[in-house]
Amino acid sequence: MKKDIWVTKATLPPYEEYIDAIKPLWESHFITNMGKYHGQLENELKSYLDVQEVSLLVNGHMALEMTIQSFEFPVGSEVITTPFTFISTTHAIIRNQLVPVFCDVKKDGTIDEDKIESLITDKTVAILPVHVYGNICNVEAIQKIANRRNLKVIYDAAHAFGEKYKGCGVGNFGDASVFSFHATKVFNTIEGGAVTFSNRDLYEKLYSLKNFGIRGEEIVESVGANAKMNEFCAVMGLCNIKHIDETIESRRRIWAYYKDKLSKIEGIEFLEEKDCIERNYSYFPILVSSNYKMSRDELYLYLAENRIHARKYFYPLTSSHDCCVRCSKVDNIDVAKDLSERVLTLPMYPELSHKEVEEIVELF
Ligand SMILES: *Cc1c(COP(=O)(O)O)cnc(C)c1O
Repeated sequence: MKKDIWVTKATLPPYEEYIDAIKPLWESHFITNMGKYHGQLENELKSYLDVQEVSLLVNGHMALEMTIQSFEFPVGSEVITTPFTFISTTHAIIRNQLVPVFCDVKKDGTIDEDKIESLITDKTVAILPVHVYGNICNVEAIQKIANRRNLKVIYDAAHAFGEKYKGCGVGNFGDASVFSFHATKVFNTIEGGAVTFSNRDLYEKLYSLKNFGIRGEEIVESVGANAKMNEFCAVMGLCNIKHIDETIESRRRIWAYYKDKLSKIEGIEFLEEKDCIERNYSYFPILVSSNYKMSRDELYLYLAENRIHARKYFYPLTSSHDCCVRCSKVDNIDVAKDLSERVLTLPMYPELSHKEVEEIVELF
């Protein structure tokens, strides 16, 4: 019987590499609280992502929440963001007692910078765009608006690990960029996340926030929580980062094959792509058009019957859930609606064999 193919599969280093690398933890018993490997991984990532500062956290979501929290925006302030994302982005805003203001996206899935300004009110404090599927936002235009209107910019860069835009590491844009190192992402630390930025004060703020505000045996500097990355996760990151080039190259090959074959199929389209991006090939989303032989939902079910488990990333829009509707503002989001009703994300992970990708493509 044919085996199931899921949309993604966690990338693991060779077993012995990880086992050898965690051995010292049995000698030191120092398994969390900003240990040696936590520090090493922060340094490795500074260099790989080509950024000035990196703060590691327990996961991408807490990294988003604490980054927002670090700016100490007044309760009820508005944050302009998009609904075409993973629910975490929206939750992180609402859980900080701020109001997400949903802006439409462009045909590449990223925030439509031309629609941002009309959403700015006297309560707006920040823009929180998403580099969705690794498609980089119009960072120049967004920064101009932010400078002109005195707003912070926090990027949800969960999909953009290692990407470069015009030769510059994507974590250098805005006031901060947040990455996720969840098992399903291009680079994982089992669970984990990081924030990149250039302002050293932010490093200190996040350091306090992720460790109960503790700055000494008898000193609590601020009200924080617990969102530290432990040493087992940091070691997983140190092992995985060694293989990141091969990981991305395998993804690129799969991506290129999908693109070549599926672009010949009537009714299958793709999100727009920008030049000047060094990509990580994190996802392979397709758009199912009305001239395809079946609807997006029918295709989803047909693939599942054939044991291919694609996902409707990102459907429904985050703005449509009752728990978010109550505490957000939404304008015209027609493009986001259209994308979310037509999108299907196909299996994509380095271990997906050429034969498996061929089988998937043949079902179209
Ligand atoms: C994965 C993801 C997150 C959350 O990251 P976790 O590490 O799973 O907490 C946030 N935003 C986006 C766009 C994501 O894809």
